[in-house]
Amino acid sequence: MTTIRKTLNGLWSLIVGLKVTGKEFCKPWLTVHYPRQEVNNLNTYRGHIELVSLSDDPGKPKCVVCRRCEEICPSDCIRIEMHTPEESHLPDRPLMLISGVPLAGSVAKDPLCEGDKLLRVLDGFYLNYNMCSLCGLCVQNCPVSSLTFSQEVYLAGQKRSDFEFDLLQRLQEDAYKPIKSYH
Ligand code: SF4
Ligand code: SF4
Repeated sequence: MTTIRKTLNGLWSLIVGLKVTGKEFCKPWLTVHYPRQEVNNLNTYRGHIELVSLSDDPGKPKCVVCRRCEEICPSDCIRIEMHTPEESHLPDRPLMLISGVPLAGSVAKDPLCEGDKLLRVLDGFYLNYNMCSLCGLCVQNCPVSSLTFSQEVYLAGQKRSDFEFDLLQRLQEDAYKPIKSYH
């Protein structure tokens, strides 16, 4: 009698297990078979930061070289190189950085005002992604929305230097390529 009861208990347990398995088997998949498939729900994904281009020139960033992002980054992982064109007039009232330090050759007033000449030219925008905490302060504080988070979910590398980017160069290289899509 005990043996029969044990057998019936075992069978019932098997049925319950198969029921759970069958239920899960019929649910939509939450994972994909990478690399044959790729995820398509990246709208809220935060990859490394990248520069946003001007709407009428994909090879030029919206950046006005105010250096606010460089100054505010708590991880010190942004480095900007710039120069002032010789033909640019020097300002009467230089633009102040967050710390109040004026930049030689900076624009006289709000860089967003119409009629301003381009007085600073971006030469390099370097990101050390090894140090970035993805806090988003640089993106939030850019006055011209020139920074955004990329959707590079499949970024990989074998050494630290693989994660040190010149974002200006990346923007220019991508400018005339087909638009990247992860959908
Ligand atoms: S805060 Fe924006 S505009 Fe200023 S240097 Fe950084 S990316 Fe350029
Ligand atoms: S997200 Fe934060 S840590 Fe990363 S570059 Fe921007 S300010 Fe620096």
